[in-house]
Amino acid sequence: MQEFSRRNFIKVVGAGSAVALTGIGCAPQKTRNNGKAHVVVVGGGSGGATAAKYLKKYSPDVEVTLVEPSATYYTCYGSNWVLGGIVDMDFIEQTYGALESRHGVKVVQDRVTAVDAEDRSVRLGNGDTLRYDRLVMSPGIDFRYDAVDGISEDDAERIPHAWKAGDQTRILRQQLEEMPNGGTFVMVAPPNPFRCPPGPYERVSLIANYFKQEKPRSKIIILDAKDGFSKQGLFEEGWEQEYGDMIEWRAASDGGLVEAVDVRNMTAIADAGFEEVQADVMNFIPRQHANRIAHDAGLTNGEGWCPVHQDTFRSEMDDNIYVLGDASVAGAMPKSGHSANTQGKVVAAAIAHELTDREPVSPTAVNTCYSLVTPDYGISVAAVYRFKDGEMQGVEGAGGLSPTGADSRTREQEAQYTRGWYAGITADIWG
Ligand SMILES: Cc1cc2nc3c(=O)[nH]c(=O)nc-3n(C[C@H](O)[C@H](O)[C@H](O)COP(=O)(O)OP(=O)(O)OC[C@H]3O[C@@H](n4cnc5c(N)ncnc54)[C@H](O)[C@@H]3O)c2cc1C
Repeated sequence: MQEFSRRNFIKVVGAGSAVALTGIGCAPQKTRNNGKAHVVVVGGGSGGATAAKYLKKYSPDVEVTLVEPSATYYTCYGSNWVLGGIVDMDFIEQTYGALESRHGVKVVQDRVTAVDAEDRSVRLGNGDTLRYDRLVMSPGIDFRYDAVDGISEDDAERIPHAWKAGDQTRILRQQLEEMPNGGTFVMVAPPNPFRCPPGPYERVSLIANYFKQEKPRSKIIILDAKDGFSKQGLFEEGWEQEYGDMIEWRAASDGGLVEAVDVRNMTAIADAGFEEVQADVMNFIPRQHANRIAHDAGLTNGEGWCPVHQDTFRSEMDDNIYVLGDASVAGAMPKSGHSANTQGKVVAAAIAHELTDREPVSPTAVNTCYSLVTPDYGISVAAVYRFKDGEMQGVEGAGGLSPTGADSRTREQEAQYTRGWYAGITADIWG
């Protein structure tokens, strides 16, 4: 087999982009030997596991191999509930047994270390090579620590991000348990775009709920790299009603923009002219970009995300590769598990159509982001998206926000829907 070479690869990617731009390229070759098509899926999270499962549903004859390094996936959704002490880690644990036994997906527990686009193969951590007809990438995000001085990924045990669920969630929960009553929890919130726009604000809500019960003299400060955030009015209304003045949010332009962190002294240093903020427990959520493997494979743009043709999520860089989920540029769709789940179905349908010479269907997609302000107080934002003028756009009049000023029964119902959403989406992805 031809050895993978980065130079070779860039040549191919370059050629692929030119073809895409001029529209004179030939259609991608369907299968290698006109035999059974093989699709390799990279990443068994929300997007990848959905794409693998639904591809087998739509095209049972296609061979689907899912490559994922962990035997256990912890959903980020629900990880804020763990931090608030509402559920344990095993509540958010998902495994791959059903994908294999019920749906016929072959699951390989390993990491993809390189993509050879010319050879249409991926290399695994154990040295093996898997050849593909189509490659689906849903590898999620990685962090950029370069925007803030004094802190790096090596500090993530002392100052966790907990923005990929698992050990990081355990570490932060333990720090919160060990924090004295009267201590200060400081969250450094990231700039847009990032995974789960309402996630930081649900997190502080449920940590406040825990403090209210166990450490009521404690304080929460959010230092934000933004001047506004998702569902802001609804969160602020809930915070005031449930937690009084326990939570303080500082906008970027009002002392929230952190320029440096003194890790040893647990201090966040804001923009010049503003005070330094001392923490007992700090949660630093870094700026984000697509996962490293997407960069190494040459699938990212100058901002570090993967541009795709948003009607199919086929990469703009390579006709045989699809990128979905948080790593992709998906128009108005937020980086969420629900978005990734919908996109997984769009990709599965696009590949199934392509392999059987049918025209792709113009997709409609949905997203709902539920958040808990307390275990019995839920709020949500929902939207429907259609492919229009080259990108996924929100459909006017569809979806919407929970009302402000709603009664407690409405909030309670939305908290129930939140739990129902979790049960439904995890069953749809891994069940
Ligand atoms: C605190 C928090 C709360 C959230 N709450 C919600 C919510 O309420 N609702 C909602 O819809 N979304 C929520 N999200 C967002 C949601 O978790 C993500 O948007 C979603 O998981 C993205 O799916 P993905 O497939 O792109 O990435 P992921 O789910 O992260 O999956 C990526 C997978 O790729 C694997 N991988 C990475 N590199 C490689 C490689 N080289 N080879 C093989 N595999 C690889 C990883 O191990 C991982 O399993 C939340 C996120 C956070 C952080």
